[in-house]
Amino acid sequence: MHFDVITLFPETLNVVTEFGVSSRAFKRDRWQLSTWNPRDYTRDVHRTVDDRPYGGGPGMVMLAEPLHQALEAADSANHCAADEVILFSPAGKPFTQAMAANLVTKKRLVLVCGRYEGIDQRFIDAAVTTELSMGDYVLSGGEIAALVLIDSVVRLLPGVLHTPESAEQDSFSSTLSGLLDSPHYTRPAVYRDQAVPETLLSGDHKAIARWRRQQSLKLSAERRPDLIEAARRAGLLSGDDEAFLASLP
Ligand code: SAH
Repeated sequence: MHFDVITLFPETLNVVTEFGVSSRAFKRDRWQLSTWNPRDYTRDVHRTVDDRPYGGGPGMVMLAEPLHQALEAADSANHCAADEVILFSPAGKPFTQAMAANLVTKKRLVLVCGRYEGIDQRFIDAAVTTELSMGDYVLSGGEIAALVLIDSVVRLLPGVLHTPESAEQDSFSSTLSGLLDSPHYTRPAVYRDQAVPETLLSGDHKAIARWRRQQSLKLSAERRPDLIEAARRAGLLSGDDEAFLASLP
């Protein structure tokens, strides 16, 4: 899987290529990253990538032409067409685990990182296929959003995580009916007077699975009732699940 990232700050992408599981998979060539700096596609001596907004107002706007040239350079360096050209923007669709699971099936994605007040709308209209938001807050640039997307997608590539089941048991996964993950414990069995829940020490796999399911339900009901509702609407809650939820205070 190949990512082409259009960014004024290519070095910031090192976080996913140099640290953790994404880095390990990158070094094993499970996925590739190329960065394209719009500044390299300017023709003036100042290498200008932005200008004042038409209509006035504060801040600067990224010029369409250097972005277009960077995109064309990325396209001509690759054999296959981009599956999607994604722009990060507060106006985009909120990014979800389901989207990450869909994107991991693609071969080549272009990610466009905005800076300043944003980018000239004509580049968006002509070249962008999808706008994604990382949440209802404003970042200074799309690079952190690109890191979020790449990290969440590449950990779903087969063979990237040590144990493939771990992604299946994460929060929002279909195995968990889209609910939150249950709490985790490791050694020692008693830590600063706090004991590990007894069921987890029982060796009874059925009881442990049941405990984890109930913890997922309880945590989701407390913190994310929207996830419980979505699971219910999708028919993913069993009679046992509903009985447990009804027993919660
Ligand atoms: N003026 C814009 C914000 C620009 S912030 C507005 O008010 O909507 C500069 C760049 O950071 C954006 O072009 C975008 O690429 C990125 N960015 C900021 N917030 C983001 C978010 N919540 N999700 C994804 N990208 C974001």
